[in-house]
Amino acid sequence: MDFAFVSGNPALDLAATVGSRRHEPIDGLATPADLERWIAECAELPDRVTADLTTFEAALSLREAIYRLALDRVLDRPFDPGGIKILNDAAAGPVPTIELGDAGLHVSGDLRATLSQLARSGATVLADPHARLKECGRTDCTRIYLDRSRGARRSWCGMDECGNRVKAAAYRARKRSSPAAGVRGPGTD
Ligand SMILES: [Zn+2]
Repeated sequence: MDFAFVSGNPALDLAATVGSRRHEPIDGLATPADLERWIAECAELPDRVTADLTTFEAALSLREAIYRLALDRVLDRPFDPGGIKILNDAAAGPVPTIELGDAGLHVSGDLRATLSQLARSGATVLADPHARLKECGRTDCTRIYLDRSRGARRSWCGMDECGNRVKAAAYRARKRSSPAAGVRGPGTD
């Protein structure tokens, strides 16, 4: 699975490592090595962490808590208390250290610190009354993202990930159902 970082917040990106949640869920984090790779690819997190089985399970538990709480926000209902506890417990730990250099910020820390950072980042966006959290408009995606666009008109988590796929499918459907499509002659496909 290729990881996409298009949610506008790393905690929401973590929650989106499970796709198609309501139909046939696809889990991008099947092993601790997948989690290590996801963290390395996430710009705001340490480059290199080691995940053992216990911290891996803690990460998955935090991920599911973030997803439930984000969905609570999308559906405008009170937060799930179990999810709140998992998030707050994770956020209470130490966070990664940052160092400024000519190459930019260097972020370092272990997996516990990384989870703490993710939990704090998630808590911040979930607590923000102005943050517009939406679920992607492509039915099978189920990614929740932060819509920062002017007028909050974004319909999809990302154009490459979903927007273009929805538009291409709609175009194919229109072509199939429109008899006029057949009279445009050869070479129009
Ligand atoms: Zn999407």
